[in-house]
Amino acid sequence: MTLLDGRPLAASLREQVASDAAAGPAPVLAVVVATDDPATEWYLGSIAKAAAAAGIELREERASDAPGVLGRLDALSADGLVDGIICLTPLPTGLALAEAGLRIDPLKDVDGASPLSLGRLASGLPAFAPATAQAVIELLHFAEVPLTGAEAVVVGRSIVVGKPLAMLLLAEQATVTVCHTRTRDLTAETRRADVLVAAAGRAHLIGPEHVKPDAVVIDVGTNEGPDGTMVGDVDTAGVEPVAGLVTPVPGGVGPVTTAVLLRNVVSAARRE
Ligand code: NAP
Repeated sequence: MTLLDGRPLAASLREQVASDAAAGPAPVLAVVVATDDPATEWYLGSIAKAAAAAGIELREERASDAPGVLGRLDALSADGLVDGIICLTPLPTGLALAEAGLRIDPLKDVDGASPLSLGRLASGLPAFAPATAQAVIELLHFAEVPLTGAEAVVVGRSIVVGKPLAMLLLAEQATVTVCHTRTRDLTAETRRADVLVAAAGRAHLIGPEHVKPDAVVIDVGTNEGPDGTMVGDVDTAGVEPVAGLVTPVPGGVGPVTTAVLLRNVVSAARRE
């Protein structure tokens, strides 16, 4: 069996979060939404459900344009009753994620969206990492994958996943390569990987030819397949006979990400 299911880990993280949340006043997570994109609405729904189950209060703030988003982020950052803030994508045209992130108080930046959080992470200072990047590390720890000295290859260099994950893997003592659309020979890079993380947002980009035998393959991608179902960046069925472990989509990184996000909210609420 080579599938690395994220759901048992997510369940145990959520249990711990619920118990920590119950130990004091209900932590408050504010979510700024500036779109009616169905995928975003679905994600918001799943956060709302998980937050309610964990005893975390959710405050939803709708905005219709860039000044609206920035104004809400400023207000929430200054609001003593709010513990954590996230801003869902897509953002209004012309508003860069980093610009929005700068308006989130780093102490409330539970999804590591602020360039200040990314800078602190790069500098080895305490900071919230983006929940997805942290979820990959949690999954690797859960599966007891040795990281010290391991060749880790990350496909994708976005500020939400690829770059912060590269920094987290470096902090785990891995030797890290980051690939992107200008990488000359993707297959040659990925075939060196003991740990291969696909975060490109391209359905089934990674096939068996990209994978070193017995490698651990973590699939961050969530893409719409031809029949409307969710598919990852990895051709899971094709890769399974080659890989040592591969995460499924759905049911791999996704549920762990939500659990990590809620854990960050409780940490933000309980800081002294
Ligand atoms: P993004 O901002 O579009 O970045 C994609 C990255 O992948 C870019 O750096 C791009 O290179 C690289 N890339 C794209 N096609 C490639 C190719 N053919 N070969 C090599 N590199 C390629 O996406 P993102 O926000 O990081 O998200 C990545 C995926 O993760 C998406 O499917 C997203 O839905 C998913 N995601 C999942 C979760 C979760 O919790 N499971 C959370 C967040 C995101 P360039 O920089 O050269 O363009």
